[in-house]
Amino acid sequence: MLVHATEITTRASEVISRCQRLASFSEDLSGTRRTFLSPPMRECHQEISKWMEALGAQWRIDAAGNFRGLYRASHPNAPLLLIGSHLDTVPNAGAYDGVLGVVLAVALMEELRGRKLPFSIEVVGFSEEEGVRFGTPFIGSRALVGRLDRALLDVRDARGVSVRKSIEDFGLNPDLIPKAELNDDALAYLEFHIEQGPVLEQLNQPLAAVDAIAGQSRLEFTFLGRANHAGTTPMNLRCDALAGAAEWIGAVERGAPSSSGLVATVGKIEARPGATNVITGEVRLTLDVRHSSDEIRTSAVEDLARQAHEIANRRGLSVRESTLLNQQSVAMDSFLVGQIEIAMTKSGCKPHRMASGAGHDAMILAEKVPSTMIFLRTPGGVSHDPAESVLQEDIEKAIACGLHLLDQLASSPEFYKRTNRA
Ligand SMILES: [Zn+2]
Repeated sequence: MLVHATEITTRASEVISRCQRLASFSEDLSGTRRTFLSPPMRECHQEISKWMEALGAQWRIDAAGNFRGLYRASHPNAPLLLIGSHLDTVPNAGAYDGVLGVVLAVALMEELRGRKLPFSIEVVGFSEEEGVRFGTPFIGSRALVGRLDRALLDVRDARGVSVRKSIEDFGLNPDLIPKAELNDDALAYLEFHIEQGPVLEQLNQPLAAVDAIAGQSRLEFTFLGRANHAGTTPMNLRCDALAGAAEWIGAVERGAPSSSGLVATVGKIEARPGATNVITGEVRLTLDVRHSSDEIRTSAVEDLARQAHEIANRRGLSVRESTLLNQQSVAMDSFLVGQIEIAMTKSGCKPHRMASGAGHDAMILAEKVPSTMIFLRTPGGVSHDPAESVLQEDIEKAIACGLHLLDQLASSPEFYKRTNRA
C-alpha cells in the first residue's frame, strides 16, 4: 500500500496527540496518575468511545472495568483478534506506557477504512496492569482469563476500599465478571507497547517482536555478623556483615553477564544497627534475577546463593535466604512472532526479536490464547516518567507493520486452525 508522506506524518502525530490527551485525565493535578477505576479512568473511556463511535464500532465497559471495542468482521459469528494494552498508569507517569497500545489498536481499525476482515478486532483497554492501587497487578487481564477470583476481589487499597467495592462504585456489577472472560472465538492477542528499555535504541531498531516474557526470581538474603565498636575492634577480629554483603553485591554484578540476557539486581539494602561508629551486625538485601529461560534463571540464582555462602564462610558470617517470588517465563506464540517478523520486513524494518524483562498483560492472556507483543523503541530507555517519549517515525512503522500483519493473518489458514471454530 502506497501512502502519501503528509498522511504518514498526520496519522503518527495523531497517535501521539491522542496519547497526550489521555495523559491529561489524571488523579493528580501535576503529572499523570490514573489507577484502577479512578474518576479519570471514566474520562479516558469516554474519549476512546468517541473514536470508536466515529468508526461505527460498538464498545462497552466489562465488569472488571476494561474498555472493549468491537470492529466487526465481514461475516457474523467470525472469530476475534484482540489488540490492546492497559489504561492505568503509575504515579507521575509518561503518556505512552500502556496507553500507546490502545491508541495504536484504534489507529489500525481506522486505517482499515471500513474494510472488513474475516475476523473481528476487539480493542481492549485493560483497567489495571501496574498494581498501584491494590498492590496486585493485572486485575483487568485476569478477568479475561477467568482469574479475577473472590480472593482478589477482597483485596483492599490503602483507604480500605476493596476491589469489589471499587467496581461497584464505578457503577459496574462484580457478579458479571465471568461475562468478561474470553470465549472460544478468541484467536489471538496482540499488544503494542513501548520497550521501556534502551536495547532497541542502541541497536537503532524501531520495532521488535517479543518472543518471551522473562521469568523472575526475587529473594531476600540476610548476612549475619557481629556488631561491635568501630574504634576498638581491630580489622582482623571483625565479623562485618556489611563488608561481606558488599563483596557479594560485586559478585552478583560480575556474574550476571556470563549468560546472555541474564539480569541480576540487588535493589534494596538495609544495614543494622546502622550507625557510623558501629560495625554492621546484620544486612538484609534483595536479589532480582530475570531471564527468558527458567533453567538459566534458576541455575544463576543457585550459583549466586552458593557464592553468598562461600563469602560468608570465609568471613565468619552466616547467611540466610528466602524466596519472595518465583515466576516462570512465558513464551509468546511462535507462529505470531514469525508473522510479525515478516510484517516488519514488509514495513522496511529489519526483523528483530527479543524477550521482555518486564511483565505485561500479554503474559496473562497467553494462559488462554496465543499471544505476542510488538515493542517500539523507547528514546533514552526512559519510562514510568513524564519524560517518556516515542518517535513519530516508529509509530508510523508500527502502524505499517500492524496493517501487514492483519493482512497476513486474514489470509493465513494456519491462523484460523488455532480456534475451536476452524
Ligand atoms: Zn505497561
